[in-house]
Amino acid sequence: MAKIVCVLYDDPVDGYPKAYARDEVAQPKRYPDGQTLPSPKAIDFKPGTLLGSVSGELGLRKFLESNDHQLMVTSSKDGADSVLDQELPDADIVISQPFWPAYMTRERIAKASKLRLIVTAGIGSDHIDLQAAIDRNITVAEVTYCNSISVSEHVVMMILALVRNYIPSYEWVVTGGWNIADCVARSYDLEAMQVGTVAAGLIGSAVLRRLKPFDVGLHYFDRHRLPESVERELNVTYHPSVESMVEVCDVVTINCPLHPETEHLFNDALIAKMKRGSYIVNTARGKICDRDAIVRALESGQLAGYAGDVWFPQPAPVDHPWRSMPHHGMTPHISGTSLTAQTLECWFENRPIRDEYLIVSAGKLAGAGAHSYSAGDATSGSEEAVRFKKG
Ligand code: NDP
Repeated sequence: MAKIVCVLYDDPVDGYPKAYARDEVAQPKRYPDGQTLPSPKAIDFKPGTLLGSVSGELGLRKFLESNDHQLMVTSSKDGADSVLDQELPDADIVISQPFWPAYMTRERIAKASKLRLIVTAGIGSDHIDLQAAIDRNITVAEVTYCNSISVSEHVVMMILALVRNYIPSYEWVVTGGWNIADCVARSYDLEAMQVGTVAAGLIGSAVLRRLKPFDVGLHYFDRHRLPESVERELNVTYHPSVESMVEVCDVVTINCPLHPETEHLFNDALIAKMKRGSYIVNTARGKICDRDAIVRALESGQLAGYAGDVWFPQPAPVDHPWRSMPHHGMTPHISGTSLTAQTLECWFENRPIRDEYLIVSAGKLAGAGAHSYSAGDATSGSEEAVRFKKG
């Protein structure tokens, strides 16, 4: 019997939904790269129901309890008196989502002497001290591709929202105005702009693909180059450094993982190399940007807009400056969904976890982790998440 501690975000303020806006969800048969969708033997929930909040329990309770495992679900994750901290000492598995991350720091990992597996029910395992997991031989897995397309759609939406000045224009309507000049004074066409992505992995390439019909100039920087045929098909220019890319772009979208190499990549120095009045859309991780450098650049006009759904830490403290900085289009971390059950099935039945899902295994970076991450820790400062409740 294993004890699984699952950290999930709270239910909606009006309670767990009894009905949904749509009766069904459209589902692709395969991922665009040909990879098959997760294939659990059975599912105990209706697709399209809210699984990510505490009452949704990721649809796992029946599956786990029928196999004699113990499931503990909580949203209480920050501060030394959190339920997560109380449950850690005899936990075998910890599951959480990037949207409401259980920051698995070295101190927490040290408290959890039985811990063997940490699952990210989503993509991005930067909330885990990967070095500490490597040192303790704990497996880390995530659900590669589960929400890459959702995020790429979100990126396109946010680019258009910023460039066309959608959010302030919407606000004029809600407050009873018809202030066309106020709306258009910051409104541009995306057409003919230069748009660059930091990283052209699953999300970055999907963004490039979706932006091509807008007749923009496309650019990317990545540690590995895309196949020549893809570069030609998308008519995208490769840059050997992030600096050379941002210098020529009007819009930059960030789509790389957070790891020691990318932490605070967008600082004062890099932002100063961008064209005045550029836009940044960051749906990758908040900490890839220096929090205060972004605020300074928006205030000075060096950046014309900043949008994204990722913050550091999460949840963002109520006084986080990105909540109130000018010209932003921030949302809480809302993209994505999860099918964790398959990873768990493999684990309990001693079958190998798909390489694409592995971040750390057998004491080293593995699978997707070996390709996209560097060893080390990017969780420092996460204790500030406790200030979300305490103000
Ligand atoms: P992938 O692993 O497919 O792509 C990541 C890409 O980033 C790879 O091409 C990798 O390069 C590149 N990369 C890694 N380090 C660097 C670096 N230092 N400089 C430039 N490029 C780098 O992941 P996805 O595209 O699916 O996801 C990317 C990130 O987006 C996730 O790690 C996560 O942080 C975030 N995300 C956010 C979500 C949200 O809800 N907002 C949901 C899902 C993901 P290479 O492999 O060539 O070395």
